[in-house]
Amino acid sequence: MSSILTQHLKNGQRALPSLENIAKVSPLVTREMAQNGGSYTLQGTNTYIIGTGTDRLLLDTGSGSYEYIPFLKEAMKQTGCESLKGIIITHWHHDHLGGVPSIQAEFGMENPIPIYKFMPENMEETFGKGEGSKNPFEIWPKEKFLPLVTEQKLVCEGATLRVVHTPGHASDHVVVILEEENAMFSGDNVLGTGTGVFRDLSAYIKSLKLMLDLNPGRLYPGHGPVVEDGRKLINEYIDHRMARLKQVQDILGSHPLKPWRKDKIAANIYPSLPEELRLPAIYNTERVLLALLNQGTVEMKTDDASGEILWSLVKERL
Ligand SMILES: [Zn+2]
Repeated sequence: MSSILTQHLKNGQRALPSLENIAKVSPLVTREMAQNGGSYTLQGTNTYIIGTGTDRLLLDTGSGSYEYIPFLKEAMKQTGCESLKGIIITHWHHDHLGGVPSIQAEFGMENPIPIYKFMPENMEETFGKGEGSKNPFEIWPKEKFLPLVTEQKLVCEGATLRVVHTPGHASDHVVVILEEENAMFSGDNVLGTGTGVFRDLSAYIKSLKLMLDLNPGRLYPGHGPVVEDGRKLINEYIDHRMARLKQVQDILGSHPLKPWRKDKIAANIYPSLPEELRLPAIYNTERVLLALLNQGTVEMKTDDASGEILWSLVKERL
């Protein structure tokens, strides 16, 4: 079945729509591509200049590609933006936060630009796991971030932004509502193309449901094009994740006496995946298994002979 989650896969290959380097996507929002396209970042990370005046807010910064700054300057010039009032980081992954030092060097030498980010207490525990695993505090010192709180509002001329903590993809992930448009900057929780990865599936599904409750119209995602019907896509993401939970249980239940390796389960779920997406698929499958483990639905053990970790349904469920 073709859905918005799979329509970018043509014969198993990825066919991504190209995005302009600078695009005025609404009267209040201009998107600049961070010049860091790749298998994890799709067309690259989206960064957004928000507001109408000469002093505006920027959401996300890309990876720190040297090619990005000229596009950011050009976008500011085209929109009449002369300075950046603040930068909101949706989450700590390198492709969203890595541009902070170069933007600060370009625009904030005399008056440093405030950098806003949600700062959960246990954040360091998640570094080095999954994608985007560079330690963010080696990129920008921890004490220089201004901590966001949920429901915090940040304003500039023409725009009122409301921050909501939505962990799961990353523990510090926030989405940001642009109240004037009832639009949502969805970060990496919901993408404009394909489906994303997540660290904690239970938290992720909870956050998707919270995003739905916020009832957004448009989504401005961290990667991929603008999503016009945000609620529809968030619903598809929730259905997709719930279906995956069931699918993994069904696979394990299909041979109840045979414990499974995670890569075999992933190969069963995604039979014709391009090579570049194989590792993210295994990573996501493992997250599903860990969520089922937390629920007490599956168990894991280490095979004595091979040392491999094997997964099976908890016996009383068979
Ligand atoms: Zn991310």
